[in-house]
Amino acid sequence: MIRINDFSTEPEELRKYEMEAVDRVFRSGSFILGNELRQFEEAWAKFCGAGFCAGTANGTEAIELGLRALDIGPGDEVITTPTTAIGTIMAIAHAGATPVLADIETGTALLDPASVERCLTPRTKAVLLVHLYGQIRDMERWTALCAKASVQLLEDCAQSHGALWNGQHAGVFGEWGAFSFYPTKNLGAKGDAGALVTGSENIASRAQRLRNCGAAERYEHIETGLNSRLDEIQAAILSTRLNWLNRFNERRQEIAQKYFATIDNPRVELLSPPVTEQSHVYHLFVVRCDERDRFAQFLKERQTETLIHYPIPAHRQVCCKGVRCDPRGLPNAESHAERCLSIPCHPQLNDDDVMKVATAINQFA
Ligand SMILES: *Cc1c(COP(=O)(O)O)cnc(C)c1O
Repeated sequence: MIRINDFSTEPEELRKYEMEAVDRVFRSGSFILGNELRQFEEAWAKFCGAGFCAGTANGTEAIELGLRALDIGPGDEVITTPTTAIGTIMAIAHAGATPVLADIETGTALLDPASVERCLTPRTKAVLLVHLYGQIRDMERWTALCAKASVQLLEDCAQSHGALWNGQHAGVFGEWGAFSFYPTKNLGAKGDAGALVTGSENIASRAQRLRNCGAAERYEHIETGLNSRLDEIQAAILSTRLNWLNRFNERRQEIAQKYFATIDNPRVELLSPPVTEQSHVYHLFVVRCDERDRFAQFLKERQTETLIHYPIPAHRQVCCKGVRCDPRGLPNAESHAERCLSIPCHPQLNDDDVMKVATAINQFA
């Protein structure tokens, strides 16, 4: 089976360094809020070209902490996309704010600026962009839209580690960028982990305080925070895997180019290609098909695993019942959810497997 993710075929050398990192933490006897976290926060901020970083327990809480660090909460609205992992929306709700869902553009499945503008109200505090599937795009436009509306621009970068727009990394265009290091993300830990990057020392230190039960000093809790700490073992593993991130992203980009060059079937639609090579890191390679379920079954019979990201748009989730949406509805998000399918695009995929997947796709009739 050609898998969507396959950690068993990762380089032995990487495994060796990861085990050394774990061993180092065991010997250090320090497991929470120690040197490994400090070093990873510094390295990740530097990699992203952000001034500061606060490690968190996961990506969802990175978003929640980021919102709380900006005092976005009850009575405030945050506009975002229904085509995302549910964590994006749950984080807004956990912060006490109100999520508002705008529609996506058909070509890229990214937020549609015109729909976002229709969602603005005097209570809107921020637009939370999701660089979905690894794509970053049109950041000048988003910066201008948010400035004009006097709302803050925020970035959910959980799928876009290392994606570049105009030479700048995802996560540095708004007040902050929130990352997840869930194992399957482009930079993944061996468990849950996340981080917030920001150019603001205030936001970073507030987030660091909030993640540690609101403690300004040890045992001095000046606000109600969370327990959302990135542990030392995960931080050490992330520091190690960070050394592989660029080459893994390059391999994902190579695979995507092969798919673009090879997939040719009128029944299978590719998303719009990225504006530049560096502006898409292919966390996922997503295609669309009117007969998606039959197509997925066809590929499964040809040894190709697929997944759907995401089968239920957020506004159709039970937990989001009654959520406010673009007054014109979210037809593009609904159509995308019915037709999208993710095909294997992980860095360990070899050229033979890429051709097998593409050939199978081309044979679907
Ligand atoms: C993975 C993901 C999240 C949530 O991250 P967790 O670490 O699982 O909490 C949020 N948003 C997007 C777009 C994601 O892909």
